[in-house]
Amino acid sequence: MTASKNPETLVLHGGHRHDATTGSVAVPIYQTTSYQFRDTDHAENLFALRELGNIYTRIMNPTTDVLEQRVTALEGGAAGLAVASGQSATTFCILNLCKAGDNFVTSTDLYGGTWNLFANTLKDMGIEARFVDPSDPENFRRATDDRTRCYYAETLPNPKLNVFPIKEVADIGREIGVPLIVDNTSAPVICRPLDHGAAVVMYSTTKFIGGHGTSIGGLVVDGGNFDWEAQGDRFPTLNQPDPSYHGAVWTEAVKPLGPIAYILRMRVILLRDVGAAMSPFNAFQFIQGMETLPLRMRAHCDNAVQVAKFLSGHPKVTNVIHPSRQDGEPRRRADAYLSGGYGSLVGFELEGGKEAGRKFIDALELFYHVANIGDARSLAIHPATTTHSQLDPEEQAATGVSDGYVRLSVGIEHVDDIIADLSQALDKA
Ligand code: PLP
Repeated sequence: MTASKNPETLVLHGGHRHDATTGSVAVPIYQTTSYQFRDTDHAENLFALRELGNIYTRIMNPTTDVLEQRVTALEGGAAGLAVASGQSATTFCILNLCKAGDNFVTSTDLYGGTWNLFANTLKDMGIEARFVDPSDPENFRRATDDRTRCYYAETLPNPKLNVFPIKEVADIGREIGVPLIVDNTSAPVICRPLDHGAAVVMYSTTKFIGGHGTSIGGLVVDGGNFDWEAQGDRFPTLNQPDPSYHGAVWTEAVKPLGPIAYILRMRVILLRDVGAAMSPFNAFQFIQGMETLPLRMRAHCDNAVQVAKFLSGHPKVTNVIHPSRQDGEPRRRADAYLSGGYGSLVGFELEGGKEAGRKFIDALELFYHVANIGDARSLAIHPATTTHSQLDPEEQAATGVSDGYVRLSVGIEHVDDIIADLSQALDKA
């Protein structure tokens, strides 16, 4: 394990030097369901959490463990947990703290799938998501009560691409005793939310961390920086005896292990029971992707700035959405929380509305028309007819999607080719 704090080094060396048995330098894919116990004492100690070790791949795996350690090192956190998708990561982040009757306060600026999860599926489970406008951080305080278990937000949410006021909201939460959970999917390397006071960071690793559009996955990093015991009543899942693990109190149980109550409970309760495990093969793919993450982010960010500039000068484009084109408070937040670039996502609005949006997308030749972001290749989508089509018009407006809005995830191809494709497609829009 490297002592470096530099992302370029951590993504290559974090969590793995070579395989202890074979010397393999590449992280081996441990494609196994289970692990031979040394003897019955060993098995008993593992199940009782007196010793940490491999039991069953639904709850841990040595390949996945390297990915967890690597992302944790990159974020400066205490421990991580990989899961089957970004959606399962978000679900676990909330279910780890909330039971029926509880609530959490969330930014309105969310990925459409997260919005649906919060507004419908969690609601059906008796958990209330209180949606607030993040342009005023105090909205989070106003929506908080005794049953509020956490705050939730995305660092660089598309489509609005207004960077979330991480420190402002984290500070309010720390004053009241409420942790901030940040979805950093679109800003790995360029933002470390834990440095700004967030308690938990989550990713859809499907995007930039994987970077090659091959695998679905999610990851949660526990910052280890939140005092769950200080307000025991607010966090019963971590402070009260857990009947499903012979009465364990997670904040007590982790004392010999470090400040990892949140993530340990997520692993041994939620992952154990719900079973949304990442496959070892996907973990391997994400480890491969991570090796070039800082390089790719730099190229994505540089290209996106140039694309935003090109679009701003185009007569058919009425509005370009990218932090590099913002001013005022949104720009201040972008500069405060992002370093090394403004991300690869660029939004723009076409003068001709929905019809022009369709024509533009259909005319693209280099860009792929897909429901994804963060691939090395350039991607485009028309959210009003796809990712955000399950939201009603009011919800679409609240998340910042208009009829003529097009979202680009600018790839790492040569920028001249990216701009040439946009230019010819705009001619046909
Ligand atoms: N969070 C953000 C910001 C996303 O963009 C996505 C997917 O688009 C998700 C979470 C969900 O991730 P997954 O598709 O891996 O379930």
